Amino acid sequence: MRQGGGGIPAITLVIVALGIFGFFVFQNAQPATDVRVIIPTQAVPTVEANAWVAILEQGFGSGSTPLPTVEIPSAPFVPPTLALQIDVTPVSADSLSQGDAVAQQATALLAATPTRPLPTAAPLETQIPVTQIYVTQPPQQWQPPPLIPPLSRDPLGRDHYWFIRPVDSNANNRGLFYYPYGSDGPEGENWRIHAGLDMPNPIGETVRAAADGQVIWAADGLRVSGGAFQDTYSYGNVVVIQHDFGFEGRPIYTLYAHLALVNVIAGQRVLARDVIGLVGNTGRVTGPHVHFEVRLGEPGGTTVPTYANTYNPALWMVPYVGTGVIAGRVTDSAGRVVMDAPVTVRSRASGQVVDTTTTYIFENSGVDVNSDPVWNENFVVADIPVGRHEVVADIGGTRVSAIVNVVEGTTAFVELTTAATPEADGS
Ligand SMILES: [Zn+2]
Repeated sequence: MRQGGGGIPAITLVIVALGIFGFFVFQNAQPATDVRVIIPTQAVPTVEANAWVAILEQGFGSGSTPLPTVEIPSAPFVPPTLALQIDVTPVSADSLSQGDAVAQQATALLAATPTRPLPTAAPLETQIPVTQIYVTQPPQQWQPPPLIPPLSRDPLGRDHYWFIRPVDSNANNRGLFYYPYGSDGPEGENWRIHAGLDMPNPIGETVRAAADGQVIWAADGLRVSGGAFQDTYSYGNVVVIQHDFGFEGRPIYTLYAHLALVNVIAGQRVLARDVIGLVGNTGRVTGPHVHFEVRLGEPGGTTVPTYANTYNPALWMVPYVGTGVIAGRVTDSAGRVVMDAPVTVRSRASGQVVDTTTTYIFENSGVDVNSDPVWNENFVVADIPVGRHEVVADIGGTRVSAIVNVVEGTTAFVELTTAATPEADGS
């Protein structure tokens, strides 16, 4: 096609236009003389153990993405890989005095590790006197727990997964499978009936508050009167938190034992995920781990409930994405609970055994285990992948099984009894 007729060539027009545009850009780039140029100061980010709380307090502004209400693990879920190494050496008096050495070890380990700074804590000696029992007051008004983690995903609202795990997701935060709540240890062993869950981890792993509350005990040993195994050094360095919420009018507490270092003092307020100490092996242990308990007090109670008021923490810690919990009740033909019965959970999809446990051992002493007020169970297995599973109990040589469907973030309940027609053992 022919180029446009005479007159000013198009290229000239473009050059002129660019020149004018450039002039305005230049003008606009100059600060007006009567307006001060304000250079925004760069906020120096502070690194705190609970920096996410600060973020929550600041908010995200309108139209921002709401926070997830399901705890997202920072590492993919992996089954426990700890070798089954059981040291059954009897606990000697010497081992009870290992606390100092362990504390030194943890201090050195902490100093050598470039981790986030921890809140300062008073030395154990300056904390509450060993003779003082810290008497608590329940909250003036019973409140629901914080929205993170979720209260319940169960459509009937039965679950109470109100606590995060006391150890991070990139560490071992599952209960030791051969010493579940209510058990006496591996087959053939006769350990103390377990009042909590054990999470074996290296000395120095951070231990965090499971939810908001007030530290009511932070010392070596737990000296609450009225219950067996209270007034001893068995717990080593131990922290007890009374939470800002209760359960059906009862105060609720979490307990963290065998710590190498305690990072809080009695009376201190803590938020969920605050670092309260470091994993250790103080007290009566066969290796470094956190012993984690959930205790319920009496309605209106003002003292720390005893060892006899524990409940299975696996029914209180929020499940991870893609997993749920199976709680069950194993009874004999007369309807009595069957104690110490082996229970196996097998995936219907893969055919693989995904977990094993034993039913609770109830004793008639003050040292006892308790079924959950909601579920009335006598066994629990947690971190079970969603989907259908066969749960098999061995009731005095009779094999009873049932199929349960595990739904994410909820408890699936199963009743296994020889009172019903037992399944023929078709293997
Ligand atoms: Zn334990």
